[in-house]
Amino acid sequence: MAEPARIEIRGKNVDFYILQNDQILPRRFWSYDSAAVAAQRLEEKQLHRGAMIRPCICCLQIFSSSHRFNRLCTRCSEEIA
Ligand SMILES: [Zn+2]
Repeated sequence: MAEPARIEIRGKNVDFYILQNDQILPRRFWSYDSAAVAAQRLEEKQLHRGAMIRPCICCLQIFSSSHRFNRLCTRCSEEIA
């Protein structure tokens, strides 16, 4: 699985920006707080990428799949393993 991107906030006074894997994002922020909110949204987006709610192919229970190829709920994957 891909490593989550490293997100940092840099800047001073009224000029802040976000670094994502050492790349500066084009958007500028006038305060640390507004940059922090945007950084947090970025992180949340990454967390949810690929994850979705789907039925287990074994017991048909709805579960939260952590990645695209995860088709078994925790219980069934433990039983099969
Ligand atoms: Zn199941």
